[in-house]
Amino acid sequence: MAGPDFRDRTPRHSSAGTIRRIVGRLATVALIAGAAFLAVGLIYADPRFTGLFDAGRGAGPGTAVEGQPGRPASAATVRTDTPPAGFEEHDQPLGHPQKPAVASSSFKFLATNEDGTPVGYSPCRPLHFVVNAALAPDGADQLVEDAIRTVSRATGIEFVDDGPTTEAPAQSRIPYQPTAYGERWAPLLIVWTTPDQAPQLKGPVIGTGGSTHFSFGDGPKSFVTGSLELDAPQIGADLGRQDGAAYATAVILHELGHVMGLEHVDDPAQLMYPEIGTPDGLAAGDLNGLFELGNAPCRKDL
Ligand SMILES: [Zn+2]
Repeated sequence: MAGPDFRDRTPRHSSAGTIRRIVGRLATVALIAGAAFLAVGLIYADPRFTGLFDAGRGAGPGTAVEGQPGRPASAATVRTDTPPAGFEEHDQPLGHPQKPAVASSSFKFLATNEDGTPVGYSPCRPLHFVVNAALAPDGADQLVEDAIRTVSRATGIEFVDDGPTTEAPAQSRIPYQPTAYGERWAPLLIVWTTPDQAPQLKGPVIGTGGSTHFSFGDGPKSFVTGSLELDAPQIGADLGRQDGAAYATAVILHELGHVMGLEHVDDPAQLMYPEIGTPDGLAAGDLNGLFELGNAPCRKDL
């Protein structure tokens, strides 16, 4: 799980300049953090389906962004740096993660803080999401909804569906897009796409997912937004087969696992194993990892 092939991704949007500069200025920290996100994809073994969950970018957030409390990089760039702090943040978690029935330590985190605690989303605010379903296979909407409900139960995170979007997948998504989404962190983007639009899906890779974390200097990190890219043609073809829906659900859950902060594990019994075995959904290790992520600290300061 070393990070030699971590690739910094070039922002597509012309408005990316500010964030890009910030990332560049803090490149050392950002790249060290980014390197920890690498996930290695392995060949998927079930002959009925071909595909890796993901590889390369794998699990990883494309970017780590930083800032200083109350002090954006410059007055002129304040609107594109970070949204006003504490949007929709409550004093207490909005929900509580479901205690897993079976204890297991078969999970890993994509990113941890210096004290060893996992990097997750604040449980004290809802996690908004938008879906670009223009290329979604028939029936896929429901699979996404069901997977989100499952992950919400496991983490206690409250998800809010902000509806459809036309936002395209980007190699380095801008975490704050006030023109498109208002003065808040951009919602989680779930996009049904193609290997042409999202080159990381070329070959057997069937989905990618990850989140971007934010910190003030060396302070604690929290995820602020993320994205999940699904290979529409590949999943569409698989949906026509026996167990196709369970397979597609496994892909979506696996990628949502990355979005929430889970890394791959070497244990084939877990859904966070990089290959799909029997698509039985979240296993004990996955659930215990999501439970811990659901206990991430609240962040009024972000
Ligand atoms: Zn993966």
